[in-house]
Amino acid sequence: MPPQAAQVVATFSRRMRVRMPDGSEQEARIKGKRLRPVCGDMVDIEPIANEDEWLITGIHDRRNALTRPNMRGQTEVLAANVELLLAVSAPSPKPDWFIVDRYLAAAEIMGVPVAVVYNKTDMAEKRPEADQYLDEYVAAGYPVLRCSAETGAGIAAVGDEIGDRIAIVVGQSGVGKSSIINELMGGEEQKTADISTKSGEGRHTTVNSVMLDLPDGGHVIDSPGVRDYAPALDSTADVVRGFREIENAGHDCRFANCRHLQEPGCAVKDAVETGSISARRYESYRRLLRLTEDLESRSRG
Ligand code: GDP
Ligand code: ZN
Repeated sequence: MPPQAAQVVATFSRRMRVRMPDGSEQEARIKGKRLRPVCGDMVDIEPIANEDEWLITGIHDRRNALTRPNMRGQTEVLAANVELLLAVSAPSPKPDWFIVDRYLAAAEIMGVPVAVVYNKTDMAEKRPEADQYLDEYVAAGYPVLRCSAETGAGIAAVGDEIGDRIAIVVGQSGVGKSSIINELMGGEEQKTADISTKSGEGRHTTVNSVMLDLPDGGHVIDSPGVRDYAPALDSTADVVRGFREIENAGHDCRFANCRHLQEPGCAVKDAVETGSISARRYESYRRLLRLTEDLESRSRG
């Protein structure tokens, strides 16, 4: 039988749960030591003679991957084939808009649509200045959704934004990511995606990554790693691509390789001066550029 294509919907170490072409879910293990499938991956699977489990024999090319450096300095893939990134902030804990910008930049570089979600609107009066920052995201072309996982206000609109896509929810600890996911799931206890194993890990081992199916057809890939995801950018070219309005304005700079810092004839600086690009977003760009340059020069030694 030729291999079939399935999608990884939960992972625990080297054990996987996959969704088959007919929609059913099966448990699978991985052939060899080299393959490292993650949640969202499309994989080739083959039946194993006389066993219920399937064997993952290959990973299809990824449309995108959420990655971060791990402790050993290698790149760790957290999820693949994501279709929407939701960057969550809230009146409390105090928003760090620079971090929000980094999430947006990471999404731009991954080529994944991104929306800003401002949660805890029930306590919005605590931080009236947030409206101005949120308006700047709208001006830069990003959807901004306000919601409260506490009262349920605006949660349906978050679900509508996801539609039938595969989303991930990221943001600072405490902004309400788990609460939002719970509300999107209809307030039900999150589906436990235990993976049974015959090697003794038992039925109740927690998965390290799971794709939750929302009642309205969308999906959320959830794992502690995804929720705590802090993007790292690899190159200064990435930084420009990470700021949509700066990249767009930059097409009119005198120099094609303009970094929009001190160069003459810089259309980005002009746009900041006239106010059509937010001075705060521009400052965020400069800060991320400096950070990335420091990393680059350190990695060169
Ligand atoms: P996470 O760390 O981003 O996953 O945040 P949690 O979902 O664990 O929420 C952190 C805290 O904020 C919890 O005490 C929640 O009850 C609370 N919280 C979450 N959403 C809201 C909201 O919309 N309004 C208010 N007032 N509190 C919320
Ligand atoms: Zn420029």
